[in-house]
Amino acid sequence: MHEYPITEQIIKIASGKAKENNARSVTRITLVVGEQSGFIGESIQMYFDIISKGTLCEGAVLEMENIKAKWYCPDCNIHYTRQPFSFACPDCGNDGMPTNIGKEFYVKDIEIETE
Ligand SMILES: [Zn+2]
Repeated sequence: MHEYPITEQIIKIASGKAKENNARSVTRITLVVGEQSGFIGESIQMYFDIISKGTLCEGAVLEMENIKAKWYCPDCNIHYTRQPFSFACPDCGNDGMPTNIGKEFYVKDIEIETE
């Protein structure tokens, strides 16, 4: 549900950029979505299709780069992707700690059409 306001925000940013550049439309928006960001790509896409109607973003491709969450093991000094139902480091078996990798959520790139 909370994807609705964030999708509105993305469309606002992209439309603003298109206007600034006297563009006819936005053709592609690339989003970086971390697994732990709390946002679900499918929901953003669904809202995007609805909210973008009639805006400069209508028909734009919404591209998502999904980032897997990483854990950190201080004993081995490595980052790793945890297995389901486990926080264990693959090397030593101790429980690692969560990191900020996987919490990303931002607009990486906006492509516009000016012709
Ligand atoms: Zn370890």
